[in-house]
Amino acid sequence: MTSGSVHRRGAAREAALARAVEDGLLGPHAPLIGLLDVDGVLAAVEALNEAFEGPAAVQHTFAAKACGLVPVLRLLAEAGMGCEVASPGELEQALAAGFTHDRLVFDSPAKTVQELDFALAHGIAINLDNFQEMARVDRLLAGREACGPIGLRVNPQVGAGAIGAMSTATATSKFGVALRDEGAVDAVIEAFARRPWLNRLHAHVGSQGCPLPLIAQGVRAAYELAERINTELGRAQITGLDIGGGLPVNFDDEDDRPTYADYVAELRTAVPGLFDGRYALITEFGRSLLAKSGTIGSIVEYTKSAGGRRIAVTHAGAQVATRTVFMPDAWPLRVGVFDAAGRPKQGPTEVVDIAGPCCFAGDLTATGRELAAVEPGDVVALYDTGAYYFSSHFSYNSLPRPAVYGYRTYSGGRVVFALVREAQSVRGVVEESGLSQADALVGLCSGNAVTHPGR
Ligand SMILES: *Cc1c(COP(=O)(O)O)cnc(C)c1O
Repeated sequence: MTSGSVHRRGAAREAALARAVEDGLLGPHAPLIGLLDVDGVLAAVEALNEAFEGPAAVQHTFAAKACGLVPVLRLLAEAGMGCEVASPGELEQALAAGFTHDRLVFDSPAKTVQELDFALAHGIAINLDNFQEMARVDRLLAGREACGPIGLRVNPQVGAGAIGAMSTATATSKFGVALRDEGAVDAVIEAFARRPWLNRLHAHVGSQGCPLPLIAQGVRAAYELAERINTELGRAQITGLDIGGGLPVNFDDEDDRPTYADYVAELRTAVPGLFDGRYALITEFGRSLLAKSGTIGSIVEYTKSAGGRRIAVTHAGAQVATRTVFMPDAWPLRVGVFDAAGRPKQGPTEVVDIAGPCCFAGDLTATGRELAAVEPGDVVALYDTGAYYFSSHFSYNSLPRPAVYGYRTYSGGRVVFALVREAQSVRGVVEESGLSQADALVGLCSGNAVTHPGR
């Protein structure tokens, strides 16, 4: 994205926060919200499309786990994207959002027979994870022809990036067929030789913390294997390469860095043949499409000091910023302080910890930050949280899911909101906590247990 659109994004975020406070979307009765910059999301899609323009047919899919909110998925579907899903829930979200079967890619490492059967029957592209799953598909197809593309996920074992838990291509990663293991490549070639319906290779080498050359090296390994398989089989059996997602996001400042264009330039150098049109390309980006368009806004409930440390207690903690709280060094977030009207706070600064509402001491979204002095009633914003944050709730302390609003800004400072997801009610929290089974255990102890139907 250009610096102009980066500037727009910052200005739009400020306008949206102020307006959310003014409209009462964020305030004493709604102390926590997620905000999504719709223009920012669409600009990211456009940048992605532009970067991959060329002779090769490309299907960009959005990795649903990064933000499985139906209106967000529908926006992306309207923008021409496909959707990568990895669970029954994500599959249903994508279908509800309007993605047609031919625009879905199903990637779970633990697909059940039933899920495979559904995908095969509807022509949904599948990436198989291992040889056992392949044998399962053999049985399900039983001579039938598959109606959608079927790929095999490979692990090029190129090594880890800066965050172990985010590195999918280590020697012992749980994903895909580990290509550098003894005999693996021969086994893969043999598997393709025996199954004319296997027509894609898939490698998702990432993600956050992985340098571009490492990701490109992984894609090259998949490409070279596809070339070898097609050459040895004497036919162009592999017609598509799914290169996954995993583009890292810059959480340090406002810039989009690296860009999709940077990534494609890296790929063109490392794997020139990838783009010549012989293979259809599939991508599965998540974080890089949404992260920088999302903001979590929270009211500051209290401020205090402990052992000389200033602490601001907010409503945004591990329930919405799970990775940041549990792995603060790997997932630091930028923090903004706004006054009670939602305007950027000026004035003297202080070094402060930003705490969440969860009942454990480590529930901090930022530590030792120099920020404008925070007071109760102020607003604290966590930036770049559009992917994997407010959409991946962790129900610690039975804290409810916050409301999420999409916004657009217009000249003259006008902001228009659309509700994307309602805040979960406290009643809703209690209902999903077994409310309808309230007597179950007392009944079990008194001998009046209702036996499970059918047992
Ligand atoms: C999570 C995931 C993605 C998306 O990764 P990002 O880092 O969010 O781009 C893509 N493909 C697969 C298979 C994944 O598991």
